Amino acid sequence: MRKADYQSAPRTDSVNISMREAISSQTNAGEYIIQTQGLQRDYQIGDRTVQALRGVDLNVAPERLVALKGRSGSGKTTLLNCIGGLDRPTSGTVQVFGRDLAELGEDELALWRRHELGFVFQSFGLLPTLSAYENVDLMLRLVDVPGQERHKRTLVCIELVGLTKWMHHRPHEMSGGQQQRVGIARALANHPRLLLADEPTGELDSNTSREVLKLFQDIVAAERVTVLMSSHDPLVDKYADEVVLLKDGQITVPSNHKSS
Ligand code: ADP
Ligand code: MG
Repeated sequence: MRKADYQSAPRTDSVNISMREAISSQTNAGEYIIQTQGLQRDYQIGDRTVQALRGVDLNVAPERLVALKGRSGSGKTTLLNCIGGLDRPTSGTVQVFGRDLAELGEDELALWRRHELGFVFQSFGLLPTLSAYENVDLMLRLVDVPGQERHKRTLVCIELVGLTKWMHHRPHEMSGGQQQRVGIARALANHPRLLLADEPTGELDSNTSREVLKLFQDIVAAERVTVLMSSHDPLVDKYADEVVLLKDGQITVPSNHKSS
């Protein structure tokens, strides 16, 4: 979670509830959970323009594990950031849960992210002074979930990622794979419908990467969540329902491929 998420959004319950209702009412069963059309993102560096995304049309159906593959610099992070409302397109549209993100202001976006999305990071992003349990619990505190419910949900998420025995340990007492499991438990805490994961296995060895990919697969089924993850690891082909290949800011393989 970004620091901005802690700071920028108003925290009254009435705003939170109406936001969730407004967003939930937008999505009908069977529709795409993510839809981008003609998505372009240019970055200006001095008088040079870098076209990070050059017209991306991406459709992601609910409850799928979708991998975004492509070399470093192909636009994976930029695409994830545009879908997660952390960056704005230069042109084109991004719809998530049927909602055009351009309609949301910065505060609304911050609130939307906190309530509707889960983020998983390459370097885990855990708070080092908090235990696994406390890292997960914190996410629920941020959205004002009452104590008893928070405790129950935290335990469920920790168990889901297989860390019940480790829940009182701090990140530095855990392996990279275990830390990423905490990261996934934390991302799931608030029942998001969409998890965005930027290179979640980027710092893990191949056996641990397999375990984490398998965990994502299990979570899609158990929590009925959609996962969009970036990777340049060939391993993901075995685990993803769909693999989308990005090259120089464009999709080069249609997003309906399943290899296993
Ligand atoms: P990937 O995640 O696939 O490695 P990125 O989305 O990070 O790719 O980057 C795509 C392209 O956009 C690269 O050429 C990168 O240098 C450029 N880029 C990304 N973010 C910025 C930025 N904030 N400012 C300038 N250029 C950027
Ligand atoms: Mg990247």
